[in-house]
Amino acid sequence: MSRVLVVGAGLTGSVCACLLRREMASKVHIVVWDKARGPGGRMSTSRHSDSSCQSADLGAQYITATPGYTHTHHSVYSELLSLGLLQSFDSIIEGQKLSDGSRNYMTPRGTSSVVRHFLSESGADLVCERHVTSLYRRGASWEVETKLGDRERFDVVVLTMPVPQILQLQGDVGNVLSVQQQQQLDGVVYSSRFAVALFFPPDVVFSFSWSARYVDGSIIRYVAADSRKRNADVPGLGPSLVVHTSVSFGLENLEKDKEEVQALILEELYKLLPELPQPVGVKCQKWRYSQVLTSVPDCPGHMTILDRPLLVCAGDAFSHSNFDGCVASARSVVAALKAAL
Ligand SMILES: Cc1cc2nc3c(=O)[nH]c(=O)nc-3n(C[C@H](O)[C@H](O)[C@H](O)COP(=O)(O)OP(=O)(O)OC[C@H]3O[C@@H](n4cnc5c(N)ncnc54)[C@H](O)[C@@H]3O)c2cc1C
Repeated sequence: MSRVLVVGAGLTGSVCACLLRREMASKVHIVVWDKARGPGGRMSTSRHSDSSCQSADLGAQYITATPGYTHTHHSVYSELLSLGLLQSFDSIIEGQKLSDGSRNYMTPRGTSSVVRHFLSESGADLVCERHVTSLYRRGASWEVETKLGDRERFDVVVLTMPVPQILQLQGDVGNVLSVQQQQQLDGVVYSSRFAVALFFPPDVVFSFSWSARYVDGSIIRYVAADSRKRNADVPGLGPSLVVHTSVSFGLENLEKDKEEVQALILEELYKLLPELPQPVGVKCQKWRYSQVLTSVPDCPGHMTILDRPLLVCAGDAFSHSNFDGCVASARSVVAALKAAL
């Protein structure tokens, strides 16, 4: 059995682990490490400590399936739809321009439920709060070091974190990258933005009719009545609302104190929705690497950095910066591992 380490428990890493299990169970032992406290990555669903509040999606909001991806990822969509993890998103998204034949879906239990599903299907050993800092080449395997200083060896390593975080890794990664690969990775560009979740008490009912709305403001770009978006508004649980800032605001305020930025966003939100009641809780998230603006040329799905010991990078930067892009990337990693092992 080859020991495979998938770094990153976001959508790419979780689908990758799941498909490895389904297609190569007898050949691989799968381990998934993530530096965060829980899985999800940019498909993160946040809860307020008060259990009478609904959760809120801080990253990805809904899934837009194009006709092409509906066809090629048919099995993934049917699996998630049949389990109730995905549902057609039929309510109003003001300002969304949906192209011909595309369909929106939402995740009734939050976007992280999809990631958790694939991780659970993978049977992988998932370890959170394990921050990979260095990779060393040791004969036919990789020795992987974490921030706490512990080291473990793997036959194959798949890196699924955003590209700048791959390039920050110490050890031998920089030594084995070709000049062309280095240039391609250096060329990847991400947008940055802030997300704020507001959690309300159970007696609150929003006075507006939309579920989500795009805004042309310099600070706020998008607002979602998050629990309504997921058809999750039920008596006894307070609704949640999510705000995403514009990319220009994200860039301008990236290095500022989060509390200061949160105050600016909330001030703007209450100008936009003056009747909004006061929340019982607020959470602000800085997405330094939000969506990919410039991907690796020709969207190859993954990049094999070294054949032996095998080191592969994947994620939305190697495909498209959305649900289907991650699935496509994970599929291409699994095809590469099947060919190699
Ligand atoms: C604000 C926002 C809105 C979005 N809206 C949508 C949308 O509506 N629809 C849509 O389809 N997509 C949307 N996206 C894009 C979508 O969320 C991403 O394309 C997708 O989640 C990327 O998944 P990933 O697994 O490739 O990367 P990530 O989710 O970033 O996962 C990488 C993981 O690696 C971990 N990690 C990083 N460095 C290390 C390290 N050194 N050691 C260990 N672990 C590490 C991270 O903690 C993370 O969990 C949105 C993204 C954002 C941020």
